[in-house]
Amino acid sequence: MGSSSVQCIFFVFIILNFISLSTAASSHGEVEDEHEFNYKKNDDKGPERWGEIKPEWEMCGKGEIQSPIELMNERVKIVSHLGRLIRDYEASNATIKNRGHDIMLEKELEAITDLDDAEKHVRMIDPKQIKIGSRKYYRYIGSLTTPPCTQNVTWSVVRKIRTVTREQVRLLRVAVHDTKQEMESSPIRCIFFVFIIFTLFSFSTAATSNGEVEDEREFNYKKNDDKGPDRWGEIKPEWEMCGKGELQSPIDMMNERVKIVSHLGRLIRDYEASNATIKNRGHDIMLKFEDGAGSIKINGFQYELQQLHWHSPSEHTVNGRRFALELHMVHEGKNGRMAVVTVLYKIGRADTFIRSLEKELEAITDLDDAEKHVRMIDPKQIKIGSRKYYRYIGSLTTPPCTQNVTWSVVRKIRTVTREQVRLLRVAVHDDSLTNARPVQPINKRMVHLYRPRV
Ligand SMILES: [Zn+2]
Repeated sequence: MGSSSVQCIFFVFIILNFISLSTAASSHGEVEDEHEFNYKKNDDKGPERWGEIKPEWEMCGKGEIQSPIELMNERVKIVSHLGRLIRDYEASNATIKNRGHDIMLEKELEAITDLDDAEKHVRMIDPKQIKIGSRKYYRYIGSLTTPPCTQNVTWSVVRKIRTVTREQVRLLRVAVHDTKQEMESSPIRCIFFVFIIFTLFSFSTAATSNGEVEDEREFNYKKNDDKGPDRWGEIKPEWEMCGKGELQSPIDMMNERVKIVSHLGRLIRDYEASNATIKNRGHDIMLKFEDGAGSIKINGFQYELQQLHWHSPSEHTVNGRRFALELHMVHEGKNGRMAVVTVLYKIGRADTFIRSLEKELEAITDLDDAEKHVRMIDPKQIKIGSRKYYRYIGSLTTPPCTQNVTWSVVRKIRTVTREQVRLLRVAVHDDSLTNARPVQPINKRMVHLYRPRV
């Protein structure tokens, strides 16, 4: 499924309604005949051609409010007026059916795995047992995601990402027995995984308590919130620098305040592969190096690489421009002083280092406070691509906002895909759309831009 599996998981909720319609799959308007369309790329019956297969399916091609969509941070507006999803379900007789492209329902799955066009009375099924675990949901108006792609469908995509085992996914997929089709799934195809996945999970863990704790974090990134960035300094005495400190980070690297110098010298990075743990810290994803990953040298002083993590969008800005992602490589010297090396990313081609971590990121996406041994990670694989960097003295950008941190912000803006940014963000599942602290006052600080002498 690759990285699109995470994306798929968003498209869960409305499909649940299909289950509650008990038997008649046809009554909700989706097409029954599994051979009329498929999910193959560049195929006569593939998704790009659905609109041409039958006149009554033309919306699949021409419709302008089609589903699924990408739930991108930038286009999401947080509101409270929609109100909670009020679900008033009750148990009903249900039938499990293999529709050729997906499966409706549960543990009778194995029984129909090898039957063509199997349909099987199941038993009483109670949709109330489908756990959602959150009151938050995305809402938009879209369409059915299979022909005839009927529009004006109200989608409610539950924000919380739930879990399922690999085996459950496999079972559902195998049961469909169209697996000779390419298994790299398009986002559209994923929906069918998810629909089923969600159902299975809920049934198999019906006894698990699911009291979701709403944001128990000590701080967050919400504006005008008690725990938001403007209040960090008041939350705990030891966090007071967040409010009072005069050398705080991040800052804007504005041309006018940047002085170009050559005396700083190149960033001398002397990294080596180390065992690493990937950890969900609630506000970000951190890769922690367990045994010496090497060091950088600044002004002749050595700082050991401790961990790295990401912020999206970027925390530092350049002439007011904010980028899609920012990497922080956190180093510590023997005297306890910190040095952070930062790389900024805009949307474009995939970053190869993040790509190498995608599997691990997906694996921790649904674990709370997950910590997971990864494997040997080599920081040398983090591409910087430039000798130029900005240098200034600032602070940690999260509480306790400790000052006198030496920042080296690589000048070159690198690229990352939207999907990679999203994956890093979704993995955090802290209900925040961002984890970027607002830009802090510069307070007469000097910002240098190191440029090698030519
Ligand atoms: Zn950071």
